Amino acid sequence: MKSLAKLIAYTKELTPYYVAIVVLTLVSAGGALVTPFILGAATDEIVAIVGGEHTFSAGISTVIWLAVAFLAVEIVVTITDSSGGYFGDVMSANMRSMLSTRYYRQLLQLPQRYFDDELTGTIISRLDRTITEVTRFMQSFANNMFSMLITTVAVLVITAFYSWPIALLLFVLFPVYMWLTALTSKRWQKIEHEKNVHVDTARGRFSEVVGQIPVVRSFAQERREWQLFAREFAATVQLTSKQSRLWHGMDALRRFALNLAFFGIYLILFIQTAQGTFTLGEMVLLIQLVGMARNPVSMMSWMVDAAQHAVAGSRDYFKVMELPQDEREGLELRDPDAVAERRERQASAVPVRFDDVHFAYDEESPVLRGITFDVQKGERIAFVSGSGGGKSTIVSLLLGFYRVQSGRIELFGEDIAHLKMPSLRDQIGVVFQEPSLFSGTIRENISYGRPGASESEIMDAAKRANAWEFISGFPKGLDAVIGERGLKLSGGQKQRIAVARAMLKDAPVLILDEATSALDTKSERAVQAGLDALMAGERTSLIIAHRLSTIQNVDRIITLRDGKIDEIGSPAELAASGGIYAELLALQLEGTSASRERL
Ligand code: ADP
Repeated sequence: MKSLAKLIAYTKELTPYYVAIVVLTLVSAGGALVTPFILGAATDEIVAIVGGEHTFSAGISTVIWLAVAFLAVEIVVTITDSSGGYFGDVMSANMRSMLSTRYYRQLLQLPQRYFDDELTGTIISRLDRTITEVTRFMQSFANNMFSMLITTVAVLVITAFYSWPIALLLFVLFPVYMWLTALTSKRWQKIEHEKNVHVDTARGRFSEVVGQIPVVRSFAQERREWQLFAREFAATVQLTSKQSRLWHGMDALRRFALNLAFFGIYLILFIQTAQGTFTLGEMVLLIQLVGMARNPVSMMSWMVDAAQHAVAGSRDYFKVMELPQDEREGLELRDPDAVAERRERQASAVPVRFDDVHFAYDEESPVLRGITFDVQKGERIAFVSGSGGGKSTIVSLLLGFYRVQSGRIELFGEDIAHLKMPSLRDQIGVVFQEPSLFSGTIRENISYGRPGASESEIMDAAKRANAWEFISGFPKGLDAVIGERGLKLSGGQKQRIAVARAMLKDAPVLILDEATSALDTKSERAVQAGLDALMAGERTSLIIAHRLSTIQNVDRIITLRDGKIDEIGSPAELAASGGIYAELLALQLEGTSASRERL
């Protein structure tokens, strides 16, 4: 319950809704409690008329007035109920929107490590589940449960005033209900959890399969994938049937207890009325009143269950919300005043400097052990190592995805440990190994780093990236829509769009993360032409390359081995030095792809 209180405090902007709902619910519940009294009074009046105590004409006008009062009260109840329902809907929509957007914002600011450790499907399903459970509970609490609780308490108090044995029977129902629910709730929850695991497994696999449909098809595994999926859901059917037997079996028991209690209540009521303890009107009043408590009692186990889900949901929600952020990451962290100063630095300072950098993803296995190098303005520098040698790690560190254990990394003379990450990354352009496009138009993709770019700037970037030729071949040109992850384009075309995107961003430092390694020779040439244009001029480029043929024109090569720099030199120098690079080069020229494993 603490986490629900926390949730209410966390969504304090919704207080006006909470207040409105509480007030409306009080009025509506109060109104509903008045009607039994009206009906009771009308019954007594009719008994008086029939018994000859009141004349028909005097008595009937009282009855008519009571009927009018009944109508008035019902109108008030209807209006407050409907308005309460409206505020409940709007409150829960607001809550869903608020919780979702804050969660997304938090995710966007979490350190890279969080995304390394969690599956995409898990992150999405957690967001979905926790928020749905919490908002659903809050809405049904606002619209039903709160009113039921108030009504039940009021009914108990009023009934106790008339007859304590009846109130006691009603009251005893609550613990009996709770106890009966508790008997099976652990088992029920366990089955629920098992069901969630099956559904999550099926969903996780489903999104992977849809994302990699060519792989599934090329191995002709559609049938097996479908069967795996079907099996998971078949398991949920089994579990649901078990769960349902448990629930309905227990529900039948609970209803039996309820009927038994009401049997007792009505018996007491009829006998006491027959003995003259109650008037007929009071009997009608009490039948109505205890009837009002019947629904809340039978819904109690459902309420408890919904509350449990919501408590668990909000606990999970806050678990993610309270994960420590990297204070350098943020949506609005750019510092506009520093732009001019930064330009000056970019003109004169050393673009990239690593100074004795040590780094490990986990303590036991260091990846970089004392890396020191400078990259001069306009220089093209390539990193070469065996697979897992730490090339990508160097780039990730420069982009600020992880913090170094010791040493420092400077970008234009500024220690990146003190830079706001958006300001750091504004100065770096990246072309990733995998073509990394979003669904949408080619225009949107090229201008991703500069949403306000003009038509001519976008066209110019596309031309220089060697992409204009194929883009202009599409009927819609820049407005051609590419499928999810750019499925309708060839690998080389996607990569040239990525080059155009980096071209338009026009950052002084460029990272090419094996940008042509997944391409055939012809596409590689087309992309390489774009990349050469991108690297031209004063831009400083860091290149991760597997195919040594693509880095023959770089200024210097750094080879890495065992987390340390092995050699630094021009391609010609390293080729002549007889070191690892020369060895790799010879192997690659022979066409032996095993060379990567040799380092
Ligand atoms: P390269 O780019 O040269 O192939 P990497 O920099 O990708 O090498 O990897 C260096 C080492 O760090 C490898 O042993 C790899 O398994 C490990 N590594 C890379 N990324 C991560 C990560 N996100 N979490 C944990 N270990 C990682």
